[in-house]
Amino acid sequence: MPDPNGFLRYDRRLPARRPVPVRISDWREVYPPAGEELIREQATRCMDCGIPFCHDGCPLGNRIPDWNDLVRTGNWDAAVESLQATNNFPEFTGRLCPAPCEAACVLGLGGQQPVTIKQVEVEIADAAVARDGLRPRPASAPTGRSVAVVGSGPAGLAAAQQLARAGHTVTVYERDDAIGGLLRYGIPDFKLEKQHIDKRLAQLTAEGVRFRTGVDVGVDVTAEQLRAEHDAVLLACGALQGRDTPETPGRALRGVHQAMAHLVAANRVVAAAGNGRPAPATLPDGTPIDAAGKHVVIIGGGDTAADCLGVAHRQGAAGVHQLDLYPQPPTERDAARDPWPTWPWLLRNYPAHEEGGERVFAVAVQEFVDDGTGQVRAVRIAEVTVEKVDGRRIVTPLPGSEREIPADLVLLAIGFEGTEQQPLLAQFGVTRNARGAVDARPDWQAADGVFVAGDMHRGASLIVWAIAEGRAAAAAIHAYLGGVGELPAPVDPARQPLAAR
Ligand SMILES: Cc1cc2nc3c(=O)[nH]c(=O)nc-3n(C[C@H](O)[C@H](O)[C@H](O)COP(=O)(O)OP(=O)(O)OC[C@H]3O[C@@H](n4cnc5c(N)ncnc54)[C@H](O)[C@@H]3O)c2cc1C
Ligand code: SF4
Repeated sequence: MPDPNGFLRYDRRLPARRPVPVRISDWREVYPPAGEELIREQATRCMDCGIPFCHDGCPLGNRIPDWNDLVRTGNWDAAVESLQATNNFPEFTGRLCPAPCEAACVLGLGGQQPVTIKQVEVEIADAAVARDGLRPRPASAPTGRSVAVVGSGPAGLAAAQQLARAGHTVTVYERDDAIGGLLRYGIPDFKLEKQHIDKRLAQLTAEGVRFRTGVDVGVDVTAEQLRAEHDAVLLACGALQGRDTPETPGRALRGVHQAMAHLVAANRVVAAAGNGRPAPATLPDGTPIDAAGKHVVIIGGGDTAADCLGVAHRQGAAGVHQLDLYPQPPTERDAARDPWPTWPWLLRNYPAHEEGGERVFAVAVQEFVDDGTGQVRAVRIAEVTVEKVDGRRIVTPLPGSEREIPADLVLLAIGFEGTEQQPLLAQFGVTRNARGAVDARPDWQAADGVFVAGDMHRGASLIVWAIAEGRAAAAAIHAYLGGVGELPAPVDPARQPLAAR
């Protein structure tokens, strides 16, 4: 029986973040561990509601009230088991998920602050590592069937682990030089230290998953070869086609880059330096895109933009502006627009925003301004209004509102246009839809024997969705291969986030 009054006795509290001057001088995670006392107190705020809407908010269907109560009573081993039953990688979601479960917490209905579900999750995840170092759980007997997983992000890895534990022989093919997808070189260490990926990979390897890095499927190995070697193929290639703005005057100037070029270069430098102060980041052709001493302008308002902001400060930027097309969101849920328990449109302050920089809302870049040598020296912006007309976005500049912001480095973090157009698609007989994603039938197949999951299917989304889709696609592959019993399938291909009807 949970504590029915916990939320009346305790306010929502998170552990203090590491002080800004300290954390921007290194690349370590922003949050220190919370400590058992705080986490047990916060878990006590969970009411174990008759209908826990947090379950619906979480695409994985994490059993949140169950593990909250187990943590409250100090029953950590059972909490670890409960969490691992639904989530292959809680150490990733506990650190990185925006926590739609918290937006759906029933405490929010009565005007209370939600339970710190994500923080409890990460503490359980870290307790699992501390307790048994992520003990491998290999299959008791092999099935003799083999699966190729293309792409090693959270979708591919979740599917690989589920299938290997069910006895199938799984090979993960990754074109990059390291496993992890966006978790490896997209997301900076101050959000996710890479030791967490490495520990999980050691477990997967011990469970029999084989990894082949540096293999670009469709180029280094053909679809035909993969299909000949394996009984099924899962495509989990992400949605890495960055949106650009080729029509904006000055786009070709030196110093204007895709955000991912900056993030990947910076993450590689950190990886090479082993968390010390890294050398300047450069593009593969040697062009420097390091923010040190520069005026940086980041265009975009999401996760990618916030990650660029944190990286720019750690690299020693002289100043950073972050530009957003949309007006500043409210700080409280607008119940008419986004009623509980849906995900509300809110001003989201990431830890990177605490570290400096200026956010400018409701503006659009009119021109990247040349310094006369082909290098950007400023961006010319205008205040704008944005309307949706027949599903199309109409951006209207306000006359007379133009001004310049100094810029030596401009980073485009304006979203993704779906999965990349690459040879693998035609070879497997699959196509991109209007959103740049690959459609799946209800059994997750995009073509006979070819399954698809994660961002490649859903479009650029979240880690929690990638893991959920990876698990569900694994269940479908297991059934396709005639495996014994059923694997858990938390979502179907048509599942959408909670929405007001
Ligand atoms: C900068 C940034 C920050 C983010 N921050 C967050 C966050 O804080 N929280 C959150 O929940 N989500 C975040 N996301 C989103 C999240 O990272 C993605 O939703 C998630 O990684 C998708 O997982 P995936 O497995 O589908 O694909 P990915 O992680 O994109 O992995 C796809 C992999 O497929 C490989 N691949 C592609 N084609 C081939 C081929 N032909 N052969 C072999 N390999 C191939 C790629 O190299 C890549 O490694 C962020 C995204 C970005 C870009
Ligand atoms: S994975 Fe995300 S939505 Fe699910 S319980 Fe964890 S924080 Fe909440």
